[in-house]
Amino acid sequence: MAPNFKGGGKQKIMKNRQIALQEINARNSANSSTNGERISNYFGKNVFSPHKMREYLPEDLYEKLMDCINHGTRIDRNVADHIAAGMKEWAMSKGATHFTHWFQPLTGSTAEKHDSFFKPMSDGRAIEKFEGTMLVQQEPDASSFPNGGIRNTFEARGYTLWDPSSPAFIVGNTLCIPTIFISYTGHALDYKMPLIKALGSVDAAATAVCQYFDKDVNKVNTTLGWEQEYFLVDSALHKLRPDLAMTGRVLFGKKPAKGQQLEDHYFGSIPERVLAFMKEFEYESHLLGIPVTTRHNEVAPNQYEVAPMFEEANLANDHNQLLMDVLKKTAQKHNFNVLFHEKPFEGVNGSGKHNNWALSTNTGVNLLRPGKNPKSNLQFLTFVVNTVAAIFENADILRASIAGVGNDHRLGANEAPPAIMSIFLGVQLNAMLDNLEKNIKAGKMTPEDKTELKLNIGKLPQVLLDNTDRNRTSPFAFTGNKFEFRAVGSSANCANAMITLNTIVANRLIQFKKDVDARIAKGDDKDEAILKELQRLIKMSKSIRFEGNGYGEEWVKEAAKRGLSNMKDTPTALKVWKDKKVIAMFEKLNVLTSEEIHARYEIEVENYGRRREIEAELVVDIALNQIIPASIQYQSKLVENLEGLKDVFGAEFKKIGATQLEIVKTLGMQINALKAKVGVIQKEQSKIEGASPETVASVYCNKIKPLMDQAREAADALEALVDDQEWPLPKMRELLFTC
Ligand code: ADP
Ligand code: MG
Repeated sequence: MAPNFKGGGKQKIMKNRQIALQEINARNSANSSTNGERISNYFGKNVFSPHKMREYLPEDLYEKLMDCINHGTRIDRNVADHIAAGMKEWAMSKGATHFTHWFQPLTGSTAEKHDSFFKPMSDGRAIEKFEGTMLVQQEPDASSFPNGGIRNTFEARGYTLWDPSSPAFIVGNTLCIPTIFISYTGHALDYKMPLIKALGSVDAAATAVCQYFDKDVNKVNTTLGWEQEYFLVDSALHKLRPDLAMTGRVLFGKKPAKGQQLEDHYFGSIPERVLAFMKEFEYESHLLGIPVTTRHNEVAPNQYEVAPMFEEANLANDHNQLLMDVLKKTAQKHNFNVLFHEKPFEGVNGSGKHNNWALSTNTGVNLLRPGKNPKSNLQFLTFVVNTVAAIFENADILRASIAGVGNDHRLGANEAPPAIMSIFLGVQLNAMLDNLEKNIKAGKMTPEDKTELKLNIGKLPQVLLDNTDRNRTSPFAFTGNKFEFRAVGSSANCANAMITLNTIVANRLIQFKKDVDARIAKGDDKDEAILKELQRLIKMSKSIRFEGNGYGEEWVKEAAKRGLSNMKDTPTALKVWKDKKVIAMFEKLNVLTSEEIHARYEIEVENYGRRREIEAELVVDIALNQIIPASIQYQSKLVENLEGLKDVFGAEFKKIGATQLEIVKTLGMQINALKAKVGVIQKEQSKIEGASPETVASVYCNKIKPLMDQAREAADALEALVDDQEWPLPKMRELLFTC
């Protein structure tokens, strides 16, 4: 459409932005009501929990199911039929009419396809039917889920299989059954299957190591406590930002005068309207058995956090996926949009999803909590040191596990941990590791040596828990009784990080067991063998430990000196999945096959390219269809004004209208600059048509993304000049401060 240089009447777009702001004012002042009911009265009401199972299943079936949940034994058809009958009865008593297999395909969100319990009969009647086979296995027509070539090469079908370790739940009128999602050939097409396998492998490896310390340990569970950060934006404004709606982040927008520099949002009082939203989603979460306990304002304006009590990792991850869904739905009811993107707004903090991780035994011991005596402390140190060593050996895989287009904006942005993987242990634990490193003698240890060392270890203060200093700039920090993996992105499925972390720790523990046993075979006693092996690992992995400021430039230099990787972007980070040694490790531990790893790599690379492509298209559209026309409109107004001035003042108009003249000129220059950048973006895009996903990702990352940033600079300069009334897009200050 040819731009109208004459200016024209008032535009509809302009009105939209003002109407939106008015609407929001009314919403913000509306009062909220709260229900004061005790949470314990309704917690888990919509979950087919073990407690409910006991009520709806015969005793022997209940025991069989529990055995299956606790030890991964198989459930036979007959048993499944009975469980399905009990589940149906419970679900129907709660008004459920449909059921769905609920799964986590590699799209990053959850998927469901609802089927009715109701079945018509030939004689005109109908019954409600739900059999064991329907519970155990379904074949969703899921051919358009990402598969990285797995389906194309083999078979198009996919299956969902019941995961009995995560209880079924009801949302609305639908019974949801957590399932894994696999191809006809048995390849994982989801996050849950490899997660369960990784948890199994760390269980086996950790249980074996625990035998050195306590023969009663026969199971080790991974515990996960995630902290979910998010932004809220009023939906009236969200609707007027195609970039937010389609990419989750703003691609244009002048930095507001006030961002987070006054640090007045963090832990501040929660706005009434936001609190009403929080109370409602917490209520919904509690019905679903998600144990959310914590809510607070985060650092950036309009940024918040929710965290639950930690749980077994597979369940915790299901709960995180479910909660993200609950947040989205509840937000809509409150006229909010919830943003999970890692960096929706330039200039203020992004969002993460800290993964608090620990290992806990069937005997009730958290292996990452310092013990009360030398023996339990040696066990604690064994797990800490092996975790540190696992990350040292596999830092690049851990980095790849958190890679994603959104997290690229956050990692290393001086408000989130850098892309360099390092570990923070705190003063005391560090001192203990240094002590072990120095004080274990090379030769045969005397009984006195050992006693002294153990005494020292025993002194590792129980108060460590209360004393751990918090270093919030570390991507992976020990926090008293757990490690906190802080680099995980807010939109991520925790499984990605958890699959990797548990696999590399399992791999390390298996090696540790072998090495300690070898030392014992050569004549060391058990404690001596453990201590010497720990010393070796402490020495080996020293360079990954860093106590200083992870946000500083100096660390980047220091890390380079230490030889640590710093992979700043996703396409670079993902390359580790092509490493034969990495593939061999995942295969050996039976977590992922090489086909599955390859498929995942393809999917993630393609996803990166596609997401950047959408962003680039929007930069072009918004620039050409909204920003340039609005700027020209304003320019026309000024030109009209100058023409009027000329009519009235003659030659003197240049002096009188000097400001207008200058603005008209600057507008012209910035419009041209923006148009030029858009042109280059389009040209670069046309060059990669039909190129391989790897090339596409790399070009978007290295060429087009910087051009998009430059386009934004020109657009933001226009925003600074154009009449506020005429600007079509809700501004950053409105997005960040209106609610
Ligand atoms: P913050 O990191 O915000 O200061 P905390 O350290 O108190 O908060 O707790 C963060 C999270 O750590 C909580 O969600 C909690 O459930 C989780 N957490 C505590 N203990 C464990 C554990 N043993 N395993 C896994 N997560 C844990
Ligand atoms: Mg935390």
